[in-house]
Amino acid sequence: MEEPTTLMRSRPNSRPLPDRTASGQLPSLDGAVRRCRCDEQFLTALGEIYARADAEIGALGAECLGGGSCCRFDLTAHRLYLSCGELAYLTAQTPPSGQRIPTRRCPYQVGPRCSARGRRPLGCRAYFCDKKSRNRRSEIYEQYHGEIRALHRAHGLDYLYVELTAGVQQMFGRPCREHFGIDKIGVAK
Ligand code: SF4
Repeated sequence: MEEPTTLMRSRPNSRPLPDRTASGQLPSLDGAVRRCRCDEQFLTALGEIYARADAEIGALGAECLGGGSCCRFDLTAHRLYLSCGELAYLTAQTPPSGQRIPTRRCPYQVGPRCSARGRRPLGCRAYFCDKKSRNRRSEIYEQYHGEIRALHRAHGLDYLYVELTAGVQQMFGRPCREHFGIDKIGVAK
C-alpha cells in the first residue's frame, strides 16, 4: 500500500500504514509509539528536524489567520497524518481534556489555539489556509517527512503513518500507564 504523500488529505480510512516490519507483522500503534518514546536521542533529533522545518517554513511568510478551522477535522474535509514517532512526541503532553478525546477533532485545540505548539507534528507546522507558497510548503513537508521517516529507520524503530485524531484517541482513549511521567521528554523550542 502506498504511503500518502500530501500533508492533508480527505481520506476516511485512518488505519495506520506500515513502512516495514522485521517479522512481516504489522506492529501495534501503542507498541510503536512506546518504543519511540523510550528513545531520547530519537526525540531530540526529531525536535531538531522540526526546528529546521520551522525556520524554512517561517521564511516563506505565510500568515496564520488564527481562526483555528484547520484543526477542526470534523467540520472540514482535512485529514492530517503523522508518524508514530511524531505521535510519541505530541502525546508526551496530555491533552487539556484528559482522556475525553472527541472524535475527529484535535484534543489539543483550545478555542482557536494549539495548546501543544512545541510538540505539534510536521503537518501542523507546514499547513496554513493562506494559499501563499502552498506548493513550496508541500515540498518542504515532503523533504522533512522523508527525514523523519529515515530517522525512524536509523534508530531501528517501526514506522507507522496514522491519522492524527485516530492516533491520539488510541493513545489516550483508555487508561495506559505508559503515559504517566513522560513530560520530561525535551522539546525543541
Ligand atoms: S496539534 Fe495543534 S496545530 Fe496540530 S491539529 Fe492539534 S491543535 Fe491543531
